[in-house]
Amino acid sequence: PFTTLPELLALNARHRANHPAVIQDGQQLNYAELDAQVNRAVAALQRDGLQPGDAIAICAANSIPYTVVFLAALRAGMVIAPLAPSSTADGLITMLRDSAARMLFVDQPVAEALQPVAERIQIPLLSLDDSQPETGFSQWLADSSPTSVELKPQTLFNIIYSSGTTGEPKGIVHDHLMRWSHIQRGIAFGYGPDCVTLMSTPLYSNTTLVSFLPTIGLGGTLVLMSKFDAQKYLELAQEHRATHSMLVPVQYQRIMARADFDSYDLSSFQMKFSTSAPFHGELKADILARWPGGLVEFYGMTEGGGSCMLLAHQFPDKLNTVGRPLDGHDMRVIDEEGNELPSGEIGEVVGHSVAMMSCYLNKPEKTAEAEWYDPAGKRFIRTGDVGRFDEEGFLTLMDRRKDMIISGGFNIYPSDLEAVLRQHPDLLEVTVIGVPSTSWGETPVGYAVRQSGLDTPADNILQWFNGQVGKTQRLNRLILTDELPRSAIGKVLKRELRDQFHSEFG
Ligand code: ATP
Ligand code: MG
Repeated sequence: PFTTLPELLALNARHRANHPAVIQDGQQLNYAELDAQVNRAVAALQRDGLQPGDAIAICAANSIPYTVVFLAALRAGMVIAPLAPSSTADGLITMLRDSAARMLFVDQPVAEALQPVAERIQIPLLSLDDSQPETGFSQWLADSSPTSVELKPQTLFNIIYSSGTTGEPKGIVHDHLMRWSHIQRGIAFGYGPDCVTLMSTPLYSNTTLVSFLPTIGLGGTLVLMSKFDAQKYLELAQEHRATHSMLVPVQYQRIMARADFDSYDLSSFQMKFSTSAPFHGELKADILARWPGGLVEFYGMTEGGGSCMLLAHQFPDKLNTVGRPLDGHDMRVIDEEGNELPSGEIGEVVGHSVAMMSCYLNKPEKTAEAEWYDPAGKRFIRTGDVGRFDEEGFLTLMDRRKDMIISGGFNIYPSDLEAVLRQHPDLLEVTVIGVPSTSWGETPVGYAVRQSGLDTPADNILQWFNGQVGKTQRLNRLILTDELPRSAIGKVLKRELRDQFHSEFG
C-alpha cells in the first residue's frame, strides 16, 4: 500500500471537509480550504513556468502559507528545499545553488535581508504574506485549476540540509516512499483525525516533518507556533487540548523549569516526542512524573541510516539510553579501523534502513566518507556518534566522534563530565568541550549557565566538580555564560565554543 501526502490531503478534504487542518494565531483553514488553497498554489507554480522535478526553496518561520506552498510543491511533483532563516547569506547562497532551487519563498522578517541574495543568484523571490498587497501571497495564488501530476514512490519529496552542527550543512534527498513510511509510523502513535499536534519546531528541520507529515496525512489538526516560547506553548497546549507534540530537549527543559508548569491542564496529551540532541535521563523522568501522556525519544540523523526509539513511559529504567533500533533498522558499532565490534563495546554507530539516503547532493566525497560496508557488502551510513549497545539491545550514546577529548592518551567522553556537572544545584545548562593543551594534547573545559538570579562564582563550581571526578577527568577551566550557542533546532554548537575559547584564551 502506498499513497502520497497530496493524495491524502485530497481525501481528507473529501471525507472531513470541515475539520480544522491548520491553526495559527486565531487563523484557521479546514481541510476543504487547505486543499483548495493548495490547488491554487499548484496552479500558480505551473503558471509561473515551473516543472515537475524543479526545486522550490522556502526560507521562513512556520505559517499557514508555508504549509500551503509546501504541500503545493509536492502536489506539483516538485521538490521542496526548506532552509533555515537563521543561516548566513553565504550559507543560503550555497544551499540555493546546491539545491538548484528555481524559486524562493520568504516571509516578511527575512524578505529585506534576502533581497540581495536573490538578486545575486537571480532567483525569483516570492512573499508568503500580504504585507505588500500587490505582490503578496494572496495575489500570487492562481484562480485556475491545476494540471494534475502523477507522483511515484521514487518521486523526490525534499532536499533537507543536515543541521550543520559539525560543519557545512549537507543536502539530503528524500522521496515520497520514505516520507510515506513516516506517515504510516504515525498511526502507531495515535496520529489521526482526533489528534491535535502542537508544533513549535521549525518546518525546515527533519525533526518537525516527522510530526507534520502524519498529522496532515492522517487528517489531524496542526497548531503552529512561529517561534518557541515556553509560556505560549503551555497556553496553546491547554487552549487547543493538544494531544501530540515534538519538542527538542532544550524546549522540554525550558518548559519544565517554569514555576507555573503544574498549573496548566495538560491532561489532553497522548504522546510527546523528542529527538535531535542529547536528552538526559533526569529530564525524561521529570516529564514522565509531571506531564500526562507517553514520551518517545528518537535517535537518528537526517541521512536516515538507522534510528533508535525509546518508549520512555514503558522503560523507566532505560532513561539514559536512546532505546532500541526501529523494526527493520540494522545498527552496529565499529572501531576506528572500521571493524565491527561485539555488542557491549564502545565505538561509532552505523546504521542501515530502507529510509537511508542514497547520497549527499553534489558531494560524492562526503558520501564516500559517510559510508561503511559490512563484510557481506551491506551498505551502512556512519552516524559520527559514539555509543554502546547493552545486552538488551538499548543504545547508550556518548558523544559525537568530533567532540571526544583525548587527554594524555585517555579517551574522555564530554557526556560523562556533563552528567556530573549537571548535578550542581545552581546550574541550568552545561556543556564540556576539549581544547588544545601543550601537556595533554587536549584538556576538558566546561561551559555553564546558572539558574536565573544566582551568582555562584565559577571557582566554587569548578572546585566542587573536580572533587567529584577522577584526576584525568578534571576540568581545566569552567566558564560561566548567559547562554550556550545553539543551532536553530536547539543543538549546542560545540565547534563555536571551541572557536570562542580559542579567540579568548588562545
Ligand atoms: P551535521 O551533520 O550537519 O553536522 P547534525 O548531525 O546535527 O549536523 P542532523 O541530521 O540534524 O544533523 O542530526 C543528527 C545528529 O543529532 C545525530 O548524529 C546525533 O548526534 C544527534 N541526535 C539525534 N537524535 C539524538 C538523540 N536522541 N540523542 C542524542 N543525540 C541525538
Ligand atoms: Mg550529522
